[in-house]
Amino acid sequence: MTKVPELFGSMVFSDKVMRERLPKATYKTLKKTVENGEPLDEGVANVVANAMKDWAVELGATHFTHWFQPMTGVTAEKHDSFIQPCGDGVIMEFSGKELIKGEPDASSFPSGGIRATFEARGYTTWDPTSPAFVRDGSLYIPTAFCSYTGEVLDKKTPLLRSMERLSAEAVKVLHLLGKTDVTRVSTTVGPEQEYFLIDKDLYNQRVDLKMTGRTLFGAKAPKGQELEDHYFGTIKTRVAAYMRDLDEELWKLGILAKTKHNEVAPSQHELAPIFSTSNIATDHNELTMELMQRVAERHDLVCLLHEKPFKGVNGSGKHNNWSISTNTGENLLDPGKSPENNTQFLLFLAAVVKAVDEYQDLLRITVASAGNDHRLGANEAPPAIISMYLGDDLDALVHSIINGEDYHSHKASRMQTGVDVLADFKKDNSDRNRTSPFAFTGNKFEFRALGSSLNIGCPNYMLNTMVAEELSQFYEALKDAEDLDAAIKELIKKTLTAHQRIIFNGDNYSEEWVKEAESRGLLNMKTLPEAFDKFLDKKNIELFVKNNIYSEEELRARCEIEFEMYAKQINIEGLTMEQMARRDIIPAVSEYIRELADTAAVKKAVSPAIPVKTEEKLITELSGLLDKFSVLTDELTEKVKTASSISDTQQEAHYYQEEVIAKMNELREIGDKMETETARNFWPYPSYTDLLFGV
Ligand code: ADP
Ligand code: MG
Repeated sequence: MTKVPELFGSMVFSDKVMRERLPKATYKTLKKTVENGEPLDEGVANVVANAMKDWAVELGATHFTHWFQPMTGVTAEKHDSFIQPCGDGVIMEFSGKELIKGEPDASSFPSGGIRATFEARGYTTWDPTSPAFVRDGSLYIPTAFCSYTGEVLDKKTPLLRSMERLSAEAVKVLHLLGKTDVTRVSTTVGPEQEYFLIDKDLYNQRVDLKMTGRTLFGAKAPKGQELEDHYFGTIKTRVAAYMRDLDEELWKLGILAKTKHNEVAPSQHELAPIFSTSNIATDHNELTMELMQRVAERHDLVCLLHEKPFKGVNGSGKHNNWSISTNTGENLLDPGKSPENNTQFLLFLAAVVKAVDEYQDLLRITVASAGNDHRLGANEAPPAIISMYLGDDLDALVHSIINGEDYHSHKASRMQTGVDVLADFKKDNSDRNRTSPFAFTGNKFEFRALGSSLNIGCPNYMLNTMVAEELSQFYEALKDAEDLDAAIKELIKKTLTAHQRIIFNGDNYSEEWVKEAESRGLLNMKTLPEAFDKFLDKKNIELFVKNNIYSEEELRARCEIEFEMYAKQINIEGLTMEQMARRDIIPAVSEYIRELADTAAVKKAVSPAIPVKTEEKLITELSGLLDKFSVLTDELTEKVKTASSISDTQQEAHYYQEEVIAKMNELREIGDKMETETARNFWPYPSYTDLLFGV
């Protein structure tokens, strides 16, 4: 392995490469575009494109692709080669126009009814704030994606818009506070990514994993995560080799892969990068998820990013660490040594508290997915109820502000290890609360309700937009104040008082919290269809339209896409289950019953005195279960048929959630019971033990 500093970013058209390869004036213009969002003219783009192409060709690239994030949930790319006919040969060319604008046929990407399919035109536009890179012989150019008439069709555009909005509003507030040197504010994100690794041969024997990413049948293994011996446990050799390989691939692309460890469930792991701006963090997280799957193949492994691949053991999530910092290098969510005197911090904190309370529905909605529905509220992930954890110290401060009382900080104490050779160290001010969906963790918030496969652009544009909105309201309330200091203090107190219901420092997994949250009037939306019913509430439409994130039409289209994709996903799950039941499980169990019957008959033929109780008992039990199973399979077929005949997508999604999933659960229960009674060599699929302990 080459040295890491040399390897790092070696495939990225980075700032360093640009400085080396671009004429000074071009470099400066491009920098201005990246840093201040100034538009780029085609002349400059031509120079940049040419330098990019030369650089990429030296690294073995023959093609370029605009790389974008449509609403499908995976990234999209279409490759064009650099070749241009020249005489009777070719030369390699790449123009500014090709860099700036692409025109993929957009008709097959979800648009939520915004366009008819015959209006196939869609445009991709270069996003110069996220660096281009070379991979598999192609130059990848991060782009935004919109329709011919300008409607947003992707996940990047709203994120970029929300970053602009938050920057504009935060800068206004900071200027009011006297920080006039601040010209730009960015949101930063560090996503912790969980995943499962399983053996490829075993994976290939499971049609459910291949079709849906999760197991639709599977009896519990005798051992799960009870012993808690996997969490932070020694990493197995095969997994360690995978992780090492993955780190290298990520580093080459300039991704700051930092932490890796085993997670709670068997075969579950986590990777966390060092944070970067929301936009880059999002692109990098998409790349990370892709590479996790690619690199796994090289090791005869499969990386599962589904939120709940296995019933009965923890699913996978993603922690979105989020903060706001200025171009002068200040983290606006850093309370500093004495938060009680840090008005600026308290003001931004109040804005976040107000945002999370007023838009708790949107935060819940943004993490909703068919997969994540299995986790939220299942005592392994933060519940579907959104609340905030501030930690004891900050909570006490907030209370003292609300009640007008004095505040005494419990300054950080020193941890005495009591062992001479171990150094004493400074203790954190507060312990962690692992159960809160939105926790303050020192100088950032950790939004923990995300599912593992989610594009983090979505929760982040929600967060940025809602906080931008609150800051703009704060600015309006403060801008003409005669005594600014007093007005700010009053505003902080008023805001925290009005929104204190969203703060909860206790155990979010407990039954009591569900009741308590209800009495506080907090929302508890357990499933995607329930959550998206609220997406188009008047206040939400107003938020997005006012902040120029979406038009009302775009918003309606998004909602439509979500219901539709949900329905499609459950439809595939239902059909896969049916197929497994009819073509694999029913024949297998019935064959096993026949084998038992044959055995019993043979025994009886040898001598009627030979006992056949075991066979009889198994035959009776399994036959009973099999009949139930086949009736339920027919019922599932009916339900899926009914569901797909519903034309209103919202109603369809609800039907899938309420009727189809319920039937799938019933069918699975009987299927899993049969698995535990059927001889291993008759059961058509690798077991949970094989899958979870097979690497
Ligand atoms: P933990 O103890 O939860 O692992 P860490 O401090 O290691 O917390 O950080 C977890 C993640 O949060 C990492 O990806 C880290 O880069 C990120 N992070 C740290 N500071 C910030 C910040 N200011 N903004 C966004 N993310 C941050
Ligand atoms: Mg964390």
